[in-house]
Amino acid sequence: MIWSSVADQAHAVRTKAISAVELTRAYLERIAAKDGELGAYLAVDEAGAIAAATRVDECVARGEDPGPLAGVPVGLKDVFVTEGLATTAGSRILEGWIPPYDGTAVAQLRAAGAVVLGKLNCDEFAMGSSNENSAYKLCRNPWDLTRTPGGSSGGSAAAVAAGLCSFSLGTDTGGSIRQPAAMCGVVGIKPTYGRVSRWGVVAYASSLDQVGPLTRSVADAALVLEAICGHDPRDATSVVEPAPLLASAPTAGVDGLTIGIPVEYGGDIDPEIAAAVQRAAAILREAGANVVEISLPHTRYALPAYYVIAPAEASSNLARYDGIRYGIRRGEGGLAEVYRATRGAGFGAEVKRRIMLGTYALRAGYYDAYYKKAQQVRALIKRDFEQAYATCDAILSPTTPTPAFALGANATPYEMYLADVFTLACNLAGLPGASVPAARASSGLPIGVQILGRPLDEATVLRVAGAIERAAGVMDLHPPFAS
Ligand code: GLN
Repeated sequence: MIWSSVADQAHAVRTKAISAVELTRAYLERIAAKDGELGAYLAVDEAGAIAAATRVDECVARGEDPGPLAGVPVGLKDVFVTEGLATTAGSRILEGWIPPYDGTAVAQLRAAGAVVLGKLNCDEFAMGSSNENSAYKLCRNPWDLTRTPGGSSGGSAAAVAAGLCSFSLGTDTGGSIRQPAAMCGVVGIKPTYGRVSRWGVVAYASSLDQVGPLTRSVADAALVLEAICGHDPRDATSVVEPAPLLASAPTAGVDGLTIGIPVEYGGDIDPEIAAAVQRAAAILREAGANVVEISLPHTRYALPAYYVIAPAEASSNLARYDGIRYGIRRGEGGLAEVYRATRGAGFGAEVKRRIMLGTYALRAGYYDAYYKKAQQVRALIKRDFEQAYATCDAILSPTTPTPAFALGANATPYEMYLADVFTLACNLAGLPGASVPAARASSGLPIGVQILGRPLDEATVLRVAGAIERAAGVMDLHPPFAS
């Protein structure tokens, strides 16, 4: 049942075709056998998972319904706060922290019957595009172990692709769900900003962060999304609209929809990626959609605006890790020395770089030139999308400029930042966006395409993704590592 859909696994558990404990053990055995080489998990909670699965089985035995995700084993990016289970955000500064509570999304998954297997590797504080900024270990791409799984939710994508969990949760601030999903050949969706509660998620850049699932199919993504969406009074930016009904969206078809392809997204991309977008466009046309060219004229400013706003917010969010209020404590003597030693030892190089960049951009006298300017650019980017959505229902583009690159290949921070050039604008505008596998490169590596929707219109994103998934026929393939 390892490769069965989320719906089939839950159905099997609810009808006693398999017990939740058996299903959970099957994944735990695979993790024990394979994850040493892959590096997707930072912590595996065997006892907690078996206990949770046992409760699901007891619920079924009593004739009660454990929920739509009954007994389905999930892995969580290590930025999700989990009661009794170490949460590090991939950073040394949180090493050894055992949270006393579950964040909202995790609590919702548990309430729906899901079984938490453990915590997944990620870039430190979700800053990165290759998982190489994890303070703990490398995570590899199951399609080619010399390559990156993408980032920052690299462990979340690798684990799903390798069959080391049924589905996972990630977070996406500038592309961290969609980019690793594309590189590992799985589906990833970042909902509209505010759709899923950020309460109990370690913050990176609060005006951009959003939670979403990584799954092996569009139908799985719809099912998981239904379980985690909804208003949460504990997150001040949570939208008040009720959780959307999404189960029928993946198979609803695209007949009559208008799909826009931004002319600005051509440029410097791998020809096989460009071909995958063309192929996806042809699939949608064939299925009855109208495919048109659109323009997002401020696209080229998305990357510089993001790399002012995200570090600025990060510098503020990460101020709390000072050795007194939060985090490990280092240094003897005075307060300044404790701060210096704690933050010096606890943060990695990229996190320090962003804190310095962000602090600089927020300094008196620089604020207008950098932060305020970036916010103005953000408003223009948002307006580009509003104008585009006057003429189309969804937007199709590449997810990444290249398939998964080699570990160590992006030597400078700027090269790494370019890995998210197609995904950042979506976060700046707060829109829903997904990546769905659409083709394979001649190297055998998976290629994903990105679908963006109107605010709160995850349903249309899933409709388009479902149509591409059905016709592209690449979803039944598993990486050789997984067999
Ligand atoms: N790679 C981008 C960054 O480093 C996006 C990360 C994310 O979405 N969390 O900021």
